[in-house]
Amino acid sequence: MRSILCLLPATLALVPLVSASFQQFGIPASRSTVSVKRILVGNLTVHDGILPGLFSPNLPGVDSLPLPMYAFLLEHGAQKVMFDLGMRKDVSGLTPAARELFTAGEFVEGIKMDVVAQLEAGGVSVKDIETVIWSHAHFDHTGDMTKFPNSTNLVIGPETNMTIYPADPSSYVQASDFAGRNVTKVDFAKSNLTFSGLKAVDYFGDGSFYLMDTPGHFPGHLTGLARVTPTSFILLGGDSFHHDGQMRPRPALQAAFPCPAHIRESASHTISTDYFWSPDTRPGSFDVRSRASPLLAISDIPGSFYSDPVQAGVSVDKLAAFDADEDFLVLIAHDIDALGTLPYFPEALDGWKAAGVKEGLLWHFLEVGSESFVFRPNVSESNSAE
Ligand SMILES: [Zn+2]
Repeated sequence: MRSILCLLPATLALVPLVSASFQQFGIPASRSTVSVKRILVGNLTVHDGILPGLFSPNLPGVDSLPLPMYAFLLEHGAQKVMFDLGMRKDVSGLTPAARELFTAGEFVEGIKMDVVAQLEAGGVSVKDIETVIWSHAHFDHTGDMTKFPNSTNLVIGPETNMTIYPADPSSYVQASDFAGRNVTKVDFAKSNLTFSGLKAVDYFGDGSFYLMDTPGHFPGHLTGLARVTPTSFILLGGDSFHHDGQMRPRPALQAAFPCPAHIRESASHTISTDYFWSPDTRPGSFDVRSRASPLLAISDIPGSFYSDPVQAGVSVDKLAAFDADEDFLVLIAHDIDALGTLPYFPEALDGWKAAGVKEGLLWHFLEVGSESFVFRPNVSESNSAE
């Protein structure tokens, strides 16, 4: 194990520092930045055996959801780091516990090129990946570490359970994930940084990229915070939550980024008032503006995909401050709403703020045409006529 804090040359940007809202989060000023590039590894179609383990309520007939899997390439000068890898291409290479989810039909994978193939096709040699960071040790984030040379380090959260299959038959990790490489657990105790109540470490030691402790979904769960300009950030939320309706709406977001009128209007008659309510809602006419809490809850049923649903809810509450701030773009690992609205590798996401993409993304989950719309029962015409 080696120290997570390594001091390396800063990437100097030419933009002057100004007092900005990030400083209210306790984030130190810095001109050092990383470039963030998003890779769509594939889509995981989740069926109704899984959905109640992700969020509630689950409405009748809403029985599948396409979850994209993103991996992120971070470039810090010449240094290249991956934050998550998505899933490996060969289901047969998963541990039995993970494989079972596919044979039971609860997941359907759609992977044409894994993350390594996409990196190489885009001109990035896997040999140049200095470190892989797992947001957590679920199979749809850990990829296939055997495709990386032993010189590639692995960084994981402090509570990550490293008991591998078959010692732990329920484990998603296996010997080949760790064999022959440096594996480092992030040590939050060595850092005095706390952003919006979340413990943080300065990964490169220059303020360009932080890892934050976001417990609740799975032991050792990490969130990344990438400074892409001196004053704007991309928050890589991993599986802190799985659907934008678990984050939104909230009062601070409503004040900073009001729901656009056309979405408010369509939502008024598409969101089921049998399942969702707010103070100014009337039967058959949902009012988004007076809704003060997220529409979807973190699942707390037995078998939930959140190992500690209460902690997960608190982590999302803490992340919500970033979501409501104009300097932060929150992206989760399975963000359905970001599928078609942001560029992919080899293009960078760094210009998100100047491009104004946040405004278009925040309320997309309430648009009736969006793939993430789960707010009315999906009853076929033949059924409803009966
Ligand atoms: Zn997960």
